[in-house]
Formats: sequence, C-alpha cells, structure tokens
Amino acid sequence: MPSRSSPWTGFPHGCDPQRDAGRLRVNGALPRVSIVAPCFNEAEGLQEFYRRCSLACSDAVGGDHEIVLVDDGSTDATWPLIEALARADERVVGLRLLRNHGHQLASSAGLAAALGERVLLIDADLQDPPELLSAMMREMDQGADVVYGLRTGRDRESWFKRTCASLFYRSLSWLTDTAIPRDTGDFRLMSRTVVDAFLLMPEQHRFIRGMVSWIGGRQVAMPYQREGRYAGTTKYPFRKMVRLAIDAVTSFSTRPLRIATWSGLVFAFLALGVLGYSLVQWARGSVIDGWTSLMAATSLFAGVQLLVLGILGEYLGRLVQESKNRPLFLVGAVRRGDKLHAVSAEFSRLPPSQQHTIRGTWRSAGAPPDRP
Ligand code: UDP
Ligand code: MG
Repeated sequence: MPSRSSPWTGFPHGCDPQRDAGRLRVNGALPRVSIVAPCFNEAEGLQEFYRRCSLACSDAVGGDHEIVLVDDGSTDATWPLIEALARADERVVGLRLLRNHGHQLASSAGLAAALGERVLLIDADLQDPPELLSAMMREMDQGADVVYGLRTGRDRESWFKRTCASLFYRSLSWLTDTAIPRDTGDFRLMSRTVVDAFLLMPEQHRFIRGMVSWIGGRQVAMPYQREGRYAGTTKYPFRKMVRLAIDAVTSFSTRPLRIATWSGLVFAFLALGVLGYSLVQWARGSVIDGWTSLMAATSLFAGVQLLVLGILGEYLGRLVQESKNRPLFLVGAVRRGDKLHAVSAEFSRLPPSQQHTIRGTWRSAGAPPDRP
C-alpha cells in the first residue's frame, strides 16, 4: 500500500481497504455497467454524449450504471463540463489526468476507475453509437466475454484515414500471431473478468484492442456503421496514428526484427555479387565507369542499414521505457457528485483488487469531504 502523500496524492480520507472491499461485495452495490470514455478537448460534444449514453444505459440496465469520463489533460472546457455533469448526476465519475497521456492511457485510466460488472469502452465523439449497448449486453448474456464493434462502413471518414487504417490492419495481421480482428477500434463491451485481466497488464505502450484480443475468452463481433464526429476535429493526427501503429506492431510481434535479419542476409549476398562484379571490372581495366551503380549500391545498403537500426531502436527504446517502470498515468482528481477526491500516484500500479477498493471510496455514501 502507498505510504507517500502530497497535496494532490494520498488516498481519500477514511479509506479502509478491508472494510470497503467487504462492504462493496456484501451489498452487491456495483453498477451493472460502466461506460468509460477518454475525452481530450471534447467540450463541444460532451453534453450530447452524456445524454445519449444515459439514455442507452437506461434502456439497457434501467439506470443501474456509471459513466466514467476521463479528462486527458484537455485545454478547453472539458473538465469544468465533466465536473458539472458529475455534480448534476451522481452516476457520472470524472477523472482528471494531470496531463495529456494519450488515448490509450486515458482509456486505461478509465478502465482502472470503472466499477461495473461490465464495462463499455467508447470514444467521446459519438462516432460509435452508445445505443448498441443493449444489443451488446444481450450478446454477453449469451456467454460472450467481449463484444467488440466491427466497423462495416466508414463513409463519413476521410479517404486518407480509411486507406491508412486498411493498410495498417492488413499488415498487422500479417506481422502478429495474436488474432487481432480487422476494422475494429476500442469500442467494446467487456466483462469484469476481462477488464481485471487487462488491468494486470503493465506495459506502457498500449494497444488496447490487441491486448483485449490477447486475453482471449469468447470474443464476438458486433457490426455497425461508423459515423462522423458529432463535434470538433480528430485528435489523432497522422503523427499519432503512426505512433499507435508502431506501438501495435512492437507490442505484438518481433517479426520486424526477423525481417531485419533476413533483409540483412539478402543484401549481404547482393553486396557479394557487387563485389564480384567490381573485381571483374577492375581485372578488365575498366574501373572508371560505374559511378551510377556505385552510388546506387552505396545508398541502397546505407538505407537498409539505417532501416534495420531504426527497427532495433524501436524495440530498444521501448525496453528502456519499460525498465523505468513509471506509473502508466497520473490521476490528479476524481469528481463524483459534490466530492472531489485526491488520488494516490500509485493508483495506476495497484492490482485490480486494490484499485477496486480505492474506487469504492469514490462512490460510497460516506465519502470524505473535499480536500482543500
Ligand atoms: N483522445 C484522448 N487523448 C488523446 C487523443 C484522443 O483521450 O490524446 C480521445 C478523444 O477525445 C476521443 C478518442 O480518444 O474520445 C478518440 O479520438 P479521436 O476521435 O480524435 O480519434 P479518431 O476517431 O479520429 O481516430
Ligand atoms: Mg473519433
């Protein structure tokens, strides 16, 4: 258990892990479903997102739900809006990360905070319809562990984005041994078992849809039409898309390293051929010619060497990052109703059972007063 505390860290007052865990289980007070949504500068569409999620939950579970909104270091009015929603509706839990950690880590923070028996992970921009929840719940009633959204049409997305996504999924499935379904995002309903298994995975570079596939169990697809954004612009510029793609490949495959070895071998043989040719030319006395071929060979080999070094570097860099063992994300505050809770910096490291205990204190009736 953590021992440090600072003005913004330290467990909420009155948290007693044993007592709270017991109380939560005995009363069976867990919501039937949690919706988790990472929000980065989503102020424009958040109210509508909340409205549609609340309706979808009422339809699916009669209001026995919670909506966990994670503010991923937004610079617009997202956090004040989340606070307002949490004050008005006690089913809303607002999580504020101390800075922008990115979509995958913000989602992980939300999953760590969710208490529901089932958890729906969804983007906050309404590209994925929360109304699918009821159908997904039915699939889960039939025994599925994960029900993931399968994008059948992406008409409202740009040609560029669709082409990149299609190329990415096809190369990923070629590179990895884990069967990661094509044309899926992170939009999915997961059972508590799957969420807890997910929370046990400590890696910094996270590719959630792949990690969930890796967990296994019965995973069922639910086809749907992906809409355009309700409001605002994409928070995934080309740079972030490339980073996610490299994270995906390096987390699920070491095949690029093998490709590097093979291309090294192929080019080494080629180099031998070029050497032979050069020697023959020298023996014939025609050594002045060949500037073009020399340049071509030099740049080709240099290019391949740099590429191979780059591939090695990607894996090595990730090793360095993992070895630092930093917390995955830092939660600055949690808002539930009138209460603003401070959260231990170590929250992100705790095993699910202990996270569960901490989360319980955010929702218990006798929650502590705001910290100054
Ligand atoms: N997002 C986030 N942190 C980021 C970038 C995005 O929490 O650094 C959230 C964003 O608010 C949205 C979801 O992740 O809810 C997906 O982002 P976006 O819709 O921009 O991606 P796209 O659908 O264009 O791929
Ligand atoms: Mg989107």
